[in-house]
Amino acid sequence: MLEITNLHANVGDKPILKGLTLSIPAGEVHAIMGPNGAGKSTLAHVLGGKPGYEVTEGSVTFRGQDLLALEPHERAAAGLFLGFQYPVEIPGVSNVQFLREALNAQRKARGEEPLSGGEFLKLAKDKAGLLKMDMEMLKRQVNVGFSGGEKKRAEMVQMGILDPAFAVLDETDSGLDIDALRIVGNGINAIMRSPDKAVLLITHYQRLLDVVAPDKVSILAGGRIVETGGPELALRLEAEGYDAVMA
Ligand code: ADP
Ligand code: MG
Ligand code: MG
Repeated sequence: MLEITNLHANVGDKPILKGLTLSIPAGEVHAIMGPNGAGKSTLAHVLGGKPGYEVTEGSVTFRGQDLLALEPHERAAAGLFLGFQYPVEIPGVSNVQFLREALNAQRKARGEEPLSGGEFLKLAKDKAGLLKMDMEMLKRQVNVGFSGGEKKRAEMVQMGILDPAFAVLDETDSGLDIDALRIVGNGINAIMRSPDKAVLLITHYQRLLDVVAPDKVSILAGGRIVETGGPELALRLEAEGYDAVMA
C-alpha cells in the first residue's frame, strides 16, 4: 500500500526527515509515536504534498505509483486521506456542500459520474450515523462554532464519505474527551478496518490505541524510524517514556 524508502525532507532550509523508511501493507493499522519535534507532522505533510515541504532524497510509492510525482489533489483522488490536528473553518460553506463537492471532484478525477443530491444525502446520513452526528450539524458551516470533538467527528464523516484506501491521521485524538475519543476510534475502525485499506495513525497516547488496536507501532525520533514493534511497544512507551525505551 505505502512504501517509504530513505525519505529526506526539508522544511525551509532545515532538514527534518533524515532517512525515514517505513512499509505499510494493506490491512494494517500502523501507529507512529515519538517525541515532540521528531518530524511526525512533517511526514504527514510530505505525504499530502503540502507546499514548503521539500523532499531532497528517497521515494514514496503508493499503490504502485510514485506518490511524490502527484499533485495534492491527485494524491487524494488516488485514495489518500489526511486528517489534521487543527481542522480549518470554512465560513459560508455548509458541511454538506463541502463534502459533496470534495467527493464529486475526486469521482471526476477518477472518471466516475458525480453522485446526485439524493444519493449523496443518503451516503452522508449513513456516515454521519457512524460518528453519531446528526444531519442538522452537517448542514451548518464547516467547523464554524464546532467544539474540538465535533470537528474531529466531522472530519471522520468526511473520511467515511471519501472512502480512501489509505488514511494518515495526525493526532486525531488531541482535544477529545473520553466519549468523543471512543466515537472517533470506533469510526476509524468502521471506515478503515478492511483488508484492502491501511492507516498511519500518529498519536501520543495509548488511549486511542485502546480503541483502534494497531497491528504495528513505530517510534519516530530525529527524523527516522528508530524502532518498530507490536502493540506492546506503545504500552512500554506509556509506562517507561521515550528516553528509557530508546536507550
Ligand atoms: P512533530 O509532529 O513530531 O511534533 P513536526 O514535524 O511538527 O514534529 O516538527 C519537526 C521539526 O520541524 C521541529 O523542530 C519543528 O520546529 C520544525 N518545523 C515544523 N514546521 C516548521 C516550519 N513551518 N518552519 C520551520 N520549522 C518547522
Ligand atoms: Mg508536535
Ligand atoms: Mg505533530
